[in-house]
Amino acid sequence: MSITAKNIVKKFGSFTALDDVTLEVGGGQLVAVLGPSGSGKSTLLRIIAGLELPDSGTVLYHDEEVTDSHVRERNVGFVFQHYALFRHMNVFENIAFGLRVRRWPKDEVEHRVNELIQLVQLEGLGRSLPSQLSGGQRQRVALARALAPSPKVLLLDEPFGALDAKVRTELRQWLRRLHEEIHVTSLFVTHDQEEAFEVADQVVVMNHGKIEQVGAPGEIFEHPANPFVMDFLGDVNVFHGRVEGGRVMLGDLAVDYPDQPHQEGRTATAFVRSHELEIARSWNGRGSALKAEVVQVNPARGVVKIRVISADFGLALNVDVSWDRFTELRLSVGDHVYVAPRRVRVFVEDYAI
Ligand code: ATP
Repeated sequence: MSITAKNIVKKFGSFTALDDVTLEVGGGQLVAVLGPSGSGKSTLLRIIAGLELPDSGTVLYHDEEVTDSHVRERNVGFVFQHYALFRHMNVFENIAFGLRVRRWPKDEVEHRVNELIQLVQLEGLGRSLPSQLSGGQRQRVALARALAPSPKVLLLDEPFGALDAKVRTELRQWLRRLHEEIHVTSLFVTHDQEEAFEVADQVVVMNHGKIEQVGAPGEIFEHPANPFVMDFLGDVNVFHGRVEGGRVMLGDLAVDYPDQPHQEGRTATAFVRSHELEIARSWNGRGSALKAEVVQVNPARGVVKIRVISADFGLALNVDVSWDRFTELRLSVGDHVYVAPRRVRVFVEDYAI
């Protein structure tokens, strides 16, 4: 393992920011730490970096304990949301800074900085000041500066958080390509699941100072470990009901659920992603469906987003349909429809005695 954080506990007064967190990051991987605001992502990153000390637990780099070593001794590169470039230094000098501090010979500095300027595709901008660059370019300078001394580990905290959506998307694709070129072990904090899923080899989902799930993006999307992860990934409808006798009963809806064959009923929460709901003008009796009314149609994206309300069930649902299906259905506000899940993920609650 390249980075290991073991049983990390961190409290701020009586508040527990990290509650016995253990995380392993494989060498050369790009790992995203994803979670809502306040879940402890930055605190974990700062402890791994050596910017903050844990109350208990250990941090290892390449199996060597670094928990108590100073940030300067750890040889980590950082990129933060706010560029923190030196405003009075040009691009070349910003990137060279860490090398000059380490007393690299002049010609080696020159060679390394030029190499990095090429790597982050800023050729011709070496003499520009940060104020003459766009936000995306500044973040690439920050990345080149972090990479200059060839760090063992690269830590990025919301590196694209301050950029607009289009630049953000471009930069994350670029970061992925760059990672494939240089393969430095990287830990990337974000609250944006699309970003995490697009960029990372592994995603770590955090909530309330704990890790809820670790896995490859596809694995987390297909097999969310628990209701929190399912809900956090978004675009999902939540139903409350019961499982019994191999079925989930969600109000008027009954869906097969062979995982729970027992007759004895148990409370369950069922999640259906918006694109996993079928919508139709009539229902042919294949399984059960909810009657609903269309209250909103939003055709502004790659899919058409339809919002319906099921009066019987007292529930609003979001349904995504393809443009082809939408053209077929010709739905508008006020239309009566039937809605049924194609796929349901059920989480059965534990017995509470
Ligand atoms: P965000 O996405 O908003 O940055 P985060 O998941 O990175 O959130 P952290 O910054 O790690 O969360 O903070 C976790 C919790 O610890 C928050 O509730 C925060 O208020 C608290 N916290 C962090 N640093 C300190 C500090 N120095 N003193 C007191 N509380 C702190």
